Formats: sequence, structure tokens, C-alpha cells
Amino acid sequence: MGAKEHKANIKRMKELTAKIREADTAYYRDDKPIMTDRDYDALTDELKSLEQNTGLTLSGSPTQRVPGEILEELTPVRHTRPMLSADKTKSVDDLVRFAGTRDVVLSWKLDGLTLVLRYDNGGLQQAITRGREGIIGEDVTHTVRTFLNVPLTVPVREPFEIRGEGVISWANFKKINLSLEEPYSHPRNLAAGSVRKLDAAEAGKRFLEFFAFDLVTDLKIQTKCWQMDFMETNGFSVVPHVKLSRMDAASIKAAVEQMDSKHYGYPVDGLIMEYDDVSYGKSLGATGHHENRLIALKWQDELFETRFLGIELATTRTGMVSITGLFEPVEIDGTAVSRAYLHNLDIFDEFQFGVGDRIQVYKANMIIPQIARNDTQSNTFTLPMVCPCCGEPLAVRTTSGGTRQLFCENPHCTAKLVQKFDHFCEKTRMDIEGLSATTLEKFIGHGWIRNFGDLYDLEQYREEIVSTEGFGEKSFERL
Ligand SMILES: [Zn+2]
Repeated sequence: MGAKEHKANIKRMKELTAKIREADTAYYRDDKPIMTDRDYDALTDELKSLEQNTGLTLSGSPTQRVPGEILEELTPVRHTRPMLSADKTKSVDDLVRFAGTRDVVLSWKLDGLTLVLRYDNGGLQQAITRGREGIIGEDVTHTVRTFLNVPLTVPVREPFEIRGEGVISWANFKKINLSLEEPYSHPRNLAAGSVRKLDAAEAGKRFLEFFAFDLVTDLKIQTKCWQMDFMETNGFSVVPHVKLSRMDAASIKAAVEQMDSKHYGYPVDGLIMEYDDVSYGKSLGATGHHENRLIALKWQDELFETRFLGIELATTRTGMVSITGLFEPVEIDGTAVSRAYLHNLDIFDEFQFGVGDRIQVYKANMIIPQIARNDTQSNTFTLPMVCPCCGEPLAVRTTSGGTRQLFCENPHCTAKLVQKFDHFCEKTRMDIEGLSATTLEKFIGHGWIRNFGDLYDLEQYREEIVSTEGFGEKSFERL
């Protein structure tokens, strides 16, 4: 089989996997089949035969039903060689100096959980976290098998080890966070928590993906680009990268500018530059904790000054009360930002807010508004300790994650009625289209719905509703 045909096959396998998954969701979850059983079987057969021909199976393949393994604890595993990190810089000039007159490869620095995958005899043998100091990691093979895109079998029979990043896309992160009692502040934390779960089935719900960036084993492949190609041929999704051939300073700077994370669906916190010539890179050795064959450019978050105005509390379906900081609008990346989610009570306390305080805000990874620090710290703001929904006093609970959160413990709180409304819509077959639990939660949170009758009286809030995120004129009409 030619290399070109092989790559086309891998692409087709990914297409088939996506199609079959879509059909499964429509059939099992939504009870609305989108294809005939015959078509479904034809797709599955095609996928099976491609898997046989290529010798490659991906973890997300519908032909693989992953057994829901549950472990007692994670086993420590020693790395074959210490996992050193890259030297970090915040200056593009350092990248220009690093490249000199050589060919270099520029790629994203993904912001997730670094993993080592070991293969032998054409199959995934073990997956290990980086662990502390990069010397002893933990065996997480059971969860890595539930990733969307990890090759479980590969065409190459000889043993090899690769490194890459376990990540959750921004789109999946937002979806998953909506369903969690304690939302995560960043996909990195969600990815780390999910990969280290003892119950593989739980990890499988987190839509984890793996992007390979390093071939650790010396397979006599002479350039970084060919190594990437080798990994792709074996079914791995590799981190997007470009080769810069002996470029001058201006061209390197332009290439760095081009890598704008706004157009990339996964969390990244910088770029990696590495020599394309593998043996040259190796000859440079390592100093302290850094490998000299590569350098990392860390992006700085640009801070914007504004004034603290207060706090907005909102009660969720679970009774947990979210805390959002409000401030005078500042323009960041072309949009006006005036609020930032504070993830728990501990974070709120640390800021020592007072109305009018001078604060610095930024967009984390250029997407999520965050408060970086409070320069004034007048500590005069007191949280209203009553539920914004029902007015009952709030309780402080320490969650399993060890942080303090506010909770409304009133069982009759309107926020908790979301479940009931949801039920009402289903049971009475009113067929209120476009009214999911999430939407209901939003509407109740805004005070647009307090009882069943309000459901038919939404017109009065039209303007507010259509300006809500993810809810346009069209969805309102449908509703
Ligand atoms: Zn309440």
C-alpha cells in the first residue's frame, strides 16, 4: 500500500467514525434515526475492513467497545528517561536567535496534560502521565483507551514510545462544564482530572483527545518533520506544525504572528520551536531541566485596567451559587467585557474587593475573561449571603475538590425547579421545541420564568431573551 493511499485510508476511517457516532447519537439518545440499518451496516463494514487493511484502530472507533475498567488506584511508573521541559521565553527575538540559519519546526504548545504512550507488537501497551519532575508518572492506560483518537493498534510492529498532550477542545469544554456541579476554570484542569480518573467510563464522557508531538524512541528518522509524518502514518493526530527553512528574522516573526490561537479549537499557551535536524538537536544535550533542542514561547496575557463594581450571584440547578465579578466595561480583542466568573468563594476572598477598586482583567487564552489582580484591595465588599432566586440564607460547603462554594439549601428554591419544568414539558406533550434544561435554567436564572404560566408569557422578555448568548431571534420564534 502506498503512503498516499494509507493516509487517505486513515482520513476515511476518521470520517466513517464520525458518521457512525452521529448515527448512534441520533438513534440511541435522540430516538431519531438518520440512516437505514443497511447503510449503517455498510459504513461499519467499510470501517472494519479499513482497520484490517491498515492494521490501525483508533480508540474512538465504534468497532471498539471499551470495557469500563475501574481501578483501585493509579500505579506509579518510572519513565525510560526523565521528561525534561523546554526553556521558556516571552520574547520572539529569542526564537530568532535560536533558529539562527537552521531549519526549524514551529508548532502549538498545547495546554493540557502531557502523556507518554508505549507501543509494542503493533498495539498500545501503556500510557503514563508526566508526573512530578518528569521522573515517575502514573499508569493511565485505562482512561487513554477511552480517548477519541488514540491508535490502539498500529501498523508498525517494533517497540516505540511517543509523547503528546491530552486535551479537551474549547467546544467540548464548554459543553461538559454545563453539566458539572463544580465547573472547571480551564480545559487543562478538566483534562487532568479526567485522565486520572479511576473509572474509565467516567473519563470516556469527557471527549479527551491526544495530539502527538514527540517520537521518543530512536528509529533512525532524521528530521522532526519526518518523525511527525511517521506518527501520522501510524494513525496519530499530530500537533499542527510548520517548517521554517532558514528564514530571516522578519519571516520568523511573521510566522509567529500567523499562529494565532483564536483560530485554533484547542487550548494553547504558546509555541514550540525545535530544530528539524534530529541529530543536531540531540548533540546540544540538556542543561538542568531543559532540553536544548527546543525552546518555548509563552504568550503573555495582556492586562486591562478597570474598576470593580460588585458581584452577581446566580443559583444553578444543583443549588450551587456561582459568583461573577462585575466591572466597568473594557474592550479586549474588539469586544466589551464587563464580567468575569470567580470560580469559588476562596478566589473571591483572595481578591479583597471593594466597590471602586482598581483591578486588572484579561482574557485567559484570549477567550475567557478573568480578573488577574486587585491593586487596591480595600476589602470593603461584603457578599450578600442570600439566594438570588428564593431569598433564603446561603450555606458554605467545601466541595470534593477542596474549595469552598456557596449553596442554596432550600429544596423549594425556584432554581431547582428547572428539573420540574423540564418534566412538565415532556410529560404533557406540549412539545415546546427549543426549550432544553439549559435554556430553562437560564430563563429561570434571569427571572423570566417563575411558574408554568410564565412559559406562555415569554413575549414580554423578547428583547432580553434574544440578546442572551446562544439564543437568537430564530430560536425565540421557534419557542
Ligand atoms: Zn434559593
